[in-house]
Amino acid sequence: MALGKKARTLKDAGLSRITVSLDALSQPTFRLMSDSDVAVHKVLEGIAAAHAAGLAPIKVNMVVRRGVNEHEILPMAEHFRYSGIILRFIEFMDVGSTNGWRMDEVVSARDILERIAAHYPLQPVDPNYSGEVAERWRYADGGGEIGVVASVTQAFCHSCTRARLSTDGRLYTCLFASQPGADLREPLRSGATEQALSGLIADCWTRRDDRYSQLRHAATAPGTKWRCPTLAGDANVGS
Ligand code: SF4
Repeated sequence: MALGKKARTLKDAGLSRITVSLDALSQPTFRLMSDSDVAVHKVLEGIAAAHAAGLAPIKVNMVVRRGVNEHEILPMAEHFRYSGIILRFIEFMDVGSTNGWRMDEVVSARDILERIAAHYPLQPVDPNYSGEVAERWRYADGGGEIGVVASVTQAFCHSCTRARLSTDGRLYTCLFASQPGADLREPLRSGATEQALSGLIADCWTRRDDRYSQLRHAATAPGTKWRCPTLAGDANVGS
């Protein structure tokens, strides 16, 4: 069921904040980016419902791909100015060999900020916590906050704190990991204490050496081919 109908239920169930993906306001561009037939107005209705239900903060993630939706950077910024919703621009990332990633399709976070600041001056904002993924900025005129995630041009594996738990209880220590770092389902089902689980997670995290984005960045000289260390296949870099 769509967020527009679920927002209040989610809030009542204890959800406090939410992040929504929206890569464009125009339907054709959104379809190109998302490869789905979801209507943009439905996504916007969901965001409005989440706002009305009191979920906060609400973040909207926009992946920016050169030549596909970069023309939507300014319209998206203008749409969410003064809305209380934080729009975050994310550099176009590869996901192994599945999205045909090329370095020359990346619009850098610096470029995105410059395009917005040319119309609406921006000021830096301190991070909420050490290792925060998005760099925070605010409109100088009080129009609200935006963020940029420079996951390609400024890889942040060294400070990454993001673990991911799959629906079958496996802990992954990197977005690009093909193998889980630990199985938490079995200990959970056999009644492991919180302390034991905490120890398992800490042990798994201490042993991790993931740095996919940093390795990719080091290997992305124009004209080279980047071989993903964890997933099969190459991605083209440059032309
Ligand atoms: S590539 Fe992996 S380790 Fe690096 S920032 Fe992304 S999730 Fe974290």
